[in-house]
Amino acid sequence: MKALRYLNPEVLKTEEIDSPVCTDGEALVRVHAAGICGSDMAIFAGKHPRAKPPLVMGHEFAGEIVEIQPGSIETSLVLGDRVTAYPLLVCGKCWACRNGFSHVCRDLKLIGIDRDGAFAEYVSVPLNLLLKVPDRLSFDQAALIEPLAVGVHALEMAGDPDWQTAVVVGCGPIGLLVGLCLQNAGIENLLMCDINPHRVKRAAGLNFQAINSTDNNLVDRITEITKGEGADIVFECAGSAPAALQMCDLVRPRGKIIMVSVHKEPHPVDLRAISFKEISMIGTRVYTRGDYRQALQMMPDLPYQDVISHRIELARGAEGFDIMGRADDACKVIIEVK
Ligand SMILES: [Zn+2]
Ligand SMILES: [Zn+2]
Repeated sequence: MKALRYLNPEVLKTEEIDSPVCTDGEALVRVHAAGICGSDMAIFAGKHPRAKPPLVMGHEFAGEIVEIQPGSIETSLVLGDRVTAYPLLVCGKCWACRNGFSHVCRDLKLIGIDRDGAFAEYVSVPLNLLLKVPDRLSFDQAALIEPLAVGVHALEMAGDPDWQTAVVVGCGPIGLLVGLCLQNAGIENLLMCDINPHRVKRAAGLNFQAINSTDNNLVDRITEITKGEGADIVFECAGSAPAALQMCDLVRPRGKIIMVSVHKEPHPVDLRAISFKEISMIGTRVYTRGDYRQALQMMPDLPYQDVISHRIELARGAEGFDIMGRADDACKVIIEVK
């Protein structure tokens, strides 16, 4: 089969390799669409702590089942089912796994990072991780369930929306999907911001109130809009050092900061402001199966096409990474497997 393989830092190649063997308890999925994620970019840069070449990346994907080896697993899935995967591989033994929080398993692994994923014609997936996709969803929509579930989880972690003014910092795919989740939850005063004018434009195109935080002093703007109080809640979706340093200035006393982005290194945070304003800062990681189910329900009503900026064929998959890394107007890049 054809697969896009990570061979060395900054080296990706679409090549002919053996199709994965579908072992007991797994299904072979013919991939149709797979999204490139920020974590794939970290792997590509050689900065991911676990991923080792040669590796087929891709954990946000959808396709159809072409082989099933149930073994001892009971499943209602059948050949031809259209599916997406909940890509988390967990140990089942640690504190988190024993207490219903396996998404933060001490030894959390992912399909496409710790074993071969979906930037290929075929991927083998444990049956218990596959979710059937309703017919009304396209493969693109189904491949976006994973990043949407990140947004659903962020809102879940934010708790009861007793807040009305929310700021989303960072309008990449995750920021936009968090914004769409907030819109869906009926949050009235929602401000989206980014330093990249293309991303601000994309957010505005989705009918968000979007602020270019380079042209505007964001703290002043938020202070003005909230009549000097600060936002009730901030969703940090930028993952940059300046965003980490600024977030405490955006939130009101007793407000919340929800950490959605993955900061790749320790960044300075204004801890005094956390104390003085009694800010609650909440970490979030991936999603639960419940978040996935909710994302599947939400997806049909979302303007998902505005989140996708590029579609690239598998044979030219490396270009997708190039676009993600270099093009200012890149948002979600989908690898199409025809
Ligand atoms: Zn992802
Ligand atoms: Zn575990």
